[in-house]
Amino acid sequence: MSNYSDQPTIIFDMDGTLLDLAYDDFIWNELLPVRYAELHQCSLAESRDTLFQFYQEHNHTLNWYSSRFWTSKVGVDVLAMQIEHKHKVALRPGCIELLDYLKANGYPIWLATNADCAGLAFKLEQTGLTNYFDVMISSESVGHAKEFVEFWQHLAQQHPFDPARCYFIDDTEKVLNGAAKFGIQQLLTIQQPSSGKAARADSRYPMLHALTDLIPLLQHAEENKIYA
Ligand SMILES: [Mg+2]
Repeated sequence: MSNYSDQPTIIFDMDGTLLDLAYDDFIWNELLPVRYAELHQCSLAESRDTLFQFYQEHNHTLNWYSSRFWTSKVGVDVLAMQIEHKHKVALRPGCIELLDYLKANGYPIWLATNADCAGLAFKLEQTGLTNYFDVMISSESVGHAKEFVEFWQHLAQQHPFDPARCYFIDDTEKVLNGAAKFGIQQLLTIQQPSSGKAARADSRYPMLHALTDLIPLLQHAEENKIYA
């Protein structure tokens, strides 16, 4: 156990947690319908109808998160489209402050994302966050989306961690449900994943507004020696 830090492991989701989901909303709900309509010579309304039907069919599957899948399904190079608009990728409030705090206080920081490997790579490059993370993993490389307990079982095989000494922060309730099944004790969600949409009113999980709201929770656990 010598390579275990004294501090609990903090695992973050990427899109909608550390990064503003407004970027992804723009790509998938605004830009892709326009590009699809241009390519297939249909109206924007028809394009939206078709795409949103595809979205519903594939939501919460590995396909949903795969640029390669969408490129072959809709005929638009969606990875190139995302990279073309990479300047719109933005951090959520408090992201750097929180990561700096965790780093300075010896917390292992992990990134577990459903973004595919190509999406993970270009967003990390764009935001410059790579050096904060001890472990970075895409569900594409695991073979299961984070919504499923199998993702967590595979992650723990590749990178052993104790779910009783772990915080996981993710803006998607079904993902948190998957992590709960695996036994992760401290599960938190995000109150406003996209700056372009209203904050959510409630969740079955405690909500962080600014990411830095995590700091007093960790300090409280430390003061009460919950993980000592
Ligand atoms: Mg997310």
